[in-house]
Amino acid sequence: MASGSDMDDSSSSKLHVIILSSPGAGHLIPVLVLANRLAAKYGVRSTVLQVTTAMSPETNLVNLPIDKELVETIRLPPVDISNLVGPDTKVVTQLCLMMREAVPLVRSAVTAMDRRPDALFVDLFGSESLHIADEFNMPKYLYCTSTAWFLALSVYCPILDEKIEDQYVDEPEHLKIPGCKPVRPEDVVDPMLDRGDQQYREYLRMGMEFTLCDGILVNTCEDWEAKTLQAFRENESMKSVLKSPVYPIGPLTRQVEPTGLKSEFRDWLDKQPNQSVLFVSFGSGGVLSAEQTRELAWGLELSQQRFLWVIRPPTKHGVDDAFFTANGGAEDDYLPKGFIERTKNIGILVPKWAQQVEILAHPSVGGFLFHCGWNSTLESITSGVPMIAWPLYAEQRLNATMLVEELGVAVRPEVLPTKKVVGWEEIEKMVRTLMAHKDGQAMRDRAKQLKTRATNGLISEAGSANKSICKILSNIEAKHK
Ligand code: UDP
Repeated sequence: MASGSDMDDSSSSKLHVIILSSPGAGHLIPVLVLANRLAAKYGVRSTVLQVTTAMSPETNLVNLPIDKELVETIRLPPVDISNLVGPDTKVVTQLCLMMREAVPLVRSAVTAMDRRPDALFVDLFGSESLHIADEFNMPKYLYCTSTAWFLALSVYCPILDEKIEDQYVDEPEHLKIPGCKPVRPEDVVDPMLDRGDQQYREYLRMGMEFTLCDGILVNTCEDWEAKTLQAFRENESMKSVLKSPVYPIGPLTRQVEPTGLKSEFRDWLDKQPNQSVLFVSFGSGGVLSAEQTRELAWGLELSQQRFLWVIRPPTKHGVDDAFFTANGGAEDDYLPKGFIERTKNIGILVPKWAQQVEILAHPSVGGFLFHCGWNSTLESITSGVPMIAWPLYAEQRLNATMLVEELGVAVRPEVLPTKKVVGWEEIEKMVRTLMAHKDGQAMRDRAKQLKTRATNGLISEAGSANKSICKILSNIEAKHK
């Protein structure tokens, strides 16, 4: 079998992999980024199979340049789960149902290909399609678009399920995972919050399926998660649960230049001093309550720091986009009266969606108040921007704890924002700490160090990311022969 360093362009360019993406920008973006990376650095051809729903808007939003020669994107016919869900069906269950409905579509797409592809990669919600790889005699890989710590919790959850009887959130002690940082009960991923819900059973199933693949790619880097990655390699208890190798291949993010920004934001950002602007955004789907939005507005205003805030109406019947271009002073349900007028010299509001990577890369941006989605975390650190961690859903509480306690690049509210409205005083204090205090500067320095170390690990041939991908490709190639 060829070793990683034996891979050359002519051998890897023969390879063709399928990457299955679940619906949602936060899932599609890292898949496309991986496909681009495989093409640009290793000459590997990818077909991205994109599971869609009638409502999938992400292709319009993602706006990611794709390697046209080596990356093909196929939008599978929309799946319809409307007859399978009720008003209380949780997000993880919905995603699992969509991906289950998509299994025959994936199989048909593979069958229709002229030549059998060389490997199947699936993202976190695609593990039910892994057995299609067996049907076509292909190696199969999971692409974990979150942390190694999240992966450890997911594969170990079936064991916790046997050991612990009550709800995890009621546990008096941290949850122990072999070789890894213990998990605060309140930080568990959403599906572990209620063991009686269907999404918990789906999550248990996913954790077990993750262990059945030939390897797991994680969009993280050795430098940031050395302890957890070591546990996968060396801890006997962990290895008895997960035998397949875990490969840190990141941090992979979209590559863009701040010059690609829409001119209205660029002009404004260009006029602000270096590292003076706090970027505020809650990912592709985060929405705050009206009360929380008001407190955040007050906190920002009173901090007197500059901000660029991607704001979403708290309700479906919020104001329309034109509101934000109105000349301030407008009344509404969720911004304090006169907020826009009073902050017009220090702040800018962007309705619903912004070019996040371009904004984070702009030299004027010096902090990021965000929901701790993993893609956004990678984008912030690789721009050297420290954070205010405001976790909302999914595995974001784990990410927040890692940013604050392990990496030292973020501050966070004392009580989780999912438990209690964060008041304006605390917000004002966090914003000042991050943007105007030496503690914030220390976090900024650390973020820049993490960025440098991660970038070196990514670009150097001897770095963990390159070694990981070469190893995976040579394993695939060995099976291909
Ligand atoms: N994003 C963006 N503009 C926005 C909101 C989100 O470009 O206004 C992108 C962001 O850069 C990231 C992705 O959407 O790449 C969100 O992924 P993440 O994992 O951070 O969170 P999710 O939205 O999946 O919760």
